[in-house]
Amino acid sequence: MKLLEHQSKELLAGFGLGFTRSNAASSADEIARLARELGGPVVVKAQVHAGGRGKAGAVRFAEGPDEAARAARDLMEMRLARARVTTVSIEPRVQIEREFYAGVAWDTSERLPMALFSDAGGVDVENSHRMARRHFDPWRGLEAHVGRDMAAEMGIDRRLLAPAGDFLSRLARAFLECDALLVEVNPLAVVDGGLLGLDAHVEIDDDAVFRLGARLQAFAGSGDRVLTALEREAQRIDSMDHRGVAGRLVEFDGNLGLLIGGGGASLTVFDAIRRHGGRPANYCEIGGNPTEEKVAALTALLVSKPGVTHLAVIMNVVNNTRADVVARGMIEGIRRSGRRPSDVVTVFRIPGSWEQEAAAMLAAEGIASLGRETSLEEAARLAVERSLAHAT
Ligand code: GDP
Ligand code: MN
Repeated sequence: MKLLEHQSKELLAGFGLGFTRSNAASSADEIARLARELGGPVVVKAQVHAGGRGKAGAVRFAEGPDEAARAARDLMEMRLARARVTTVSIEPRVQIEREFYAGVAWDTSERLPMALFSDAGGVDVENSHRMARRHFDPWRGLEAHVGRDMAAEMGIDRRLLAPAGDFLSRLARAFLECDALLVEVNPLAVVDGGLLGLDAHVEIDDDAVFRLGARLQAFAGSGDRVLTALEREAQRIDSMDHRGVAGRLVEFDGNLGLLIGGGGASLTVFDAIRRHGGRPANYCEIGGNPTEEKVAALTALLVSKPGVTHLAVIMNVVNNTRADVVARGMIEGIRRSGRRPSDVVTVFRIPGSWEQEAAAMLAAEGIASLGRETSLEEAARLAVERSLAHAT
């Protein structure tokens, strides 16, 4: 779950981090009223789930209420990251002396959280090679002296060493306590000789959102891309029961429905399908041994969509998901949509638990299944070939 800037700041402020306070609004009139309350120069920003707003013209400076209202109106005409801007924020404008970047993320190769600090803060941090990095123990957090060390490496003014160490240490605590995947403050600005966060980005692990309960409830759903009807229905199917995942999907407009395993393997498969000229109808995650009914409902949903001619079922080697349960659910789902499984299925490749039972069941339907001797790449290629050969 990604939080918007004003939500991220609010959450992080709860850990004692200093930010310019953003007020969110959804109309130019509200922005004008807030500008009047604030008095003086302000910054008006689009609240969207996308970085790089500065470069996209979605961060506007205004001298007073009229200009702020005009900026808000302009922003709400914009589309950013394929979504309309519906929420804008306003905050007092400050005089920036210097900009830093502070962040915490998971380093998946080291399997440890990692704190980051750079003196190339602002809108260009992505292109910077100057970055202090320190892994830290997730049980102990990041000690302030380590944060001070990172800030010193980036040449921060001596008077700001202690505040910077404290900031990084609190940011790391927020990251751990909120089960975040990423927290970023950019810029962490030097203002009036002290440190002040002007922008923040927080992303929480979806599977931990429930643990934050009321703290996050207020933010849920706001500003997200609006789900399509198919995506909402898939979510409903996934929530039918707690066993396994089947239905976390993103809709595309192609003809090839996909039942693919979650994580890296499904990204690989999706990319391979695109590379071979296939047109996916969806990206999808299934795994964790979903029930037959979940798979059936999801399959029926996918193959009933107008324009979907074929289905490919491709997973990496499974050990807790049962291939035969997926096969049975898939066959049932295609039947429910009034079609014949052998007309619809291009490839079925789920090596691992119960694969022989799955193969026998599919053979009875006239469908040849693929085993682990066929690579994910090759399975994707075959799926595309078959979906094009019989495209209707
Ligand atoms: P982003 O481009 O989406 O990361 O949006 P930011 O909120 O970080 O704003 C982009 C840039 O605008 C920042 O890096 C700052 O340089 C600048 N900026 C934002 N707020 C202020 C402010 O209050 N005063 C000044 N002078 N610059 C600001
Ligand atoms: Mn920023």
